[in-house]
Amino acid sequence: HADLAMYQAKAAGRNRLRFYDPEMQASVDQRGTLERELRHAIGEGQLVLYYQSQVDTQGRVNGAEALVRWRHPQRGLIPPAQFIGSAESLGLALPLGRWVLASACAQLAEWARRPESAGLNLAVNISGAYFRRPELVEDISRALDESGANPRRLRLELAEATLLDDPEDSLAKMIALKETGVGFTLDNFGSGYCSLSYLKRLPLDQLKIAPAFVREVLEDSADATADSFVALAESLGLAIMAEGVETEAQRDYLAHHGCRTFQGFLFGLPGPADALFTAGAQASSRRDDAA
Ligand code: C2E
Ligand code: MG
Ligand code: MG
Repeated sequence: HADLAMYQAKAAGRNRLRFYDPEMQASVDQRGTLERELRHAIGEGQLVLYYQSQVDTQGRVNGAEALVRWRHPQRGLIPPAQFIGSAESLGLALPLGRWVLASACAQLAEWARRPESAGLNLAVNISGAYFRRPELVEDISRALDESGANPRRLRLELAEATLLDDPEDSLAKMIALKETGVGFTLDNFGSGYCSLSYLKRLPLDQLKIAPAFVREVLEDSADATADSFVALAESLGLAIMAEGVETEAQRDYLAHHGCRTFQGFLFGLPGPADALFTAGAQASSRRDDAA
């Protein structure tokens, strides 16, 4: 029977793939090589920060999120999902986190010196592995001092899973960090399980709706979800922002439901810092803030 033959061929193919495929072995070797290379990537200046714009309801850029990439000498640009986990299991969470912070703070300080970018906020992702380190609070103070960046323009992005990993330690660190003047955003909100009572205790400034919810926003049952996010944010006194916004319809819907800041391919891809000002978007400057 033709179907059966095809099934057997597929099954055989699958077995071969699992047990003998030279390509698969190559990818295992490659992974080992990448991990060895990763140890040197930071010291050799192969990491870069890309920036993705964040816009207000008028479409003006009022900030950006720093997103790390590895500029591999042979393989080109490698996205964070493909190396952050490996870096952390190699014990590199601390040097990686420090490099990101120092670079981001240097960029923030540079923006502050130019009128067209002086009012921008900068969001920086802090991984769970880095957040748990006892050095974290001092690292952040030092990065701010050394760069001269304005702490009030720095937003640390923390995932729900990061906070829940050790709720009391998270709270203590956030309270200590709050003293420096930095802000906090709960990243990928909706994807974790923080209880309302725990969220209430945290000195958060903003909730960032995860792309998965933004995608669902225009589907039938989404109304209730979007409404409940906004109601929750309001009851906590927090600003609400959406990421992964790809269409005008999503933006309009979210704006109508109380979202005030947007990030996504609709407004700009992550790119080198200078590209923030060449996408036709206007940065809101201090003068705009005052107006
Ligand atoms: P995240 O912090 O939730 O960042 C948002 C991710 O969504 C980014 O992916 C961004 O490029 C992508 N994105 C932006 N707009 C859109 C859109 O309209 N549609 C879709 N489908 N995606 C969009 P990226 O740069 O690959 O980063 C992935 C994750 O890696 C980040 O998720 C963050 O958790 C982590 N990451 C990135 N940079 C750093 C870093 O410097 N340190 C740490 N610890 N983690 C980082
Ligand atoms: Mg983020
Ligand atoms: Mg996110």
